[in-house]
Amino acid sequence: MIIMSETEKYPCLLCGQSDSRVIFQEAAGTIRRCSACGHIFSAAGARPATGYFPDSIAAADHFWWREAHAKMYQAFGRRFLAGRSGRLLDAGCGLGYFLSHLAAYPDWEAWGTEISPAAVDFARDTLDLGRIVEADLARADFPDRHFDLITLWDVLEHLPDPRPVLANLRAWLKDDGWIFIHTPNISIQLPKARLKKFFARGRPGHYLEATDHRHHYSPVTLRRLVEMLDLEMVELIHLPPIQSVSGRRSALGRVLKNFWYWSALGLDKLTAGAVRLDNLFAVVKKS
Ligand SMILES: [Zn+2]
Repeated sequence: MIIMSETEKYPCLLCGQSDSRVIFQEAAGTIRRCSACGHIFSAAGARPATGYFPDSIAAADHFWWREAHAKMYQAFGRRFLAGRSGRLLDAGCGLGYFLSHLAAYPDWEAWGTEISPAAVDFARDTLDLGRIVEADLARADFPDRHFDLITLWDVLEHLPDPRPVLANLRAWLKDDGWIFIHTPNISIQLPKARLKKFFARGRPGHYLEATDHRHHYSPVTLRRLVEMLDLEMVELIHLPPIQSVSGRRSALGRVLKNFWYWSALGLDKLTAGAVRLDNLFAVVKKS
């Protein structure tokens, strides 16, 4: 594990300036905010670039991706896939559980890419998904203007440099196609992390997952990132939350999380979109 010193310089992904300050400390490293533009990122030892999933997939991973995400994936399908057709790429498809929901929408030709070999094997062999490409998104090779819809579920925050990936996705997208991005919302995650750390009496934990989550986006910084790549954030929508708190099966946690979701919907309406309490679900198109 490498913990960078206070004096090291970190060029900001969004504005290139090197001045930043520590705004949160956790077990794996620090969370910093760019002094020039406010972008928030992790300064911690990263996992090796062989993907998120280790060689053997833990039972907790199956719970997290199969069960805890199911409600979110189903709501997405009802809203965006039902009654339509096209070619979809799930970029960074992990174990393939989102793609497994595409079985309900046979008019969609569904593809996935994934960098972790064990996850690719699981998606192909156990979920029986036929169109899984083992590839690094920055280097994968698809024809230009090929896909109607590209989904990035819980991927963007893991990328040390998302720019070559977004540039590729843009190239593979049809001119009237769109990209869907799901990523945590740091505007909410940071106060939540501070609260959790307070209740844990300052114990160093993995509140913001500094090792895995390299960049922490807000509505403002996510918009700025996509605009750098000649993309446009058309809208932020709401989908039901992950049905678990910190990966645990807790009925009370689930109830609270869903209460939070309904509160988020209400506040969004009341403030005409100015206040967002939940994760970021962004609809992005070519500008
Ligand atoms: Zn900056």
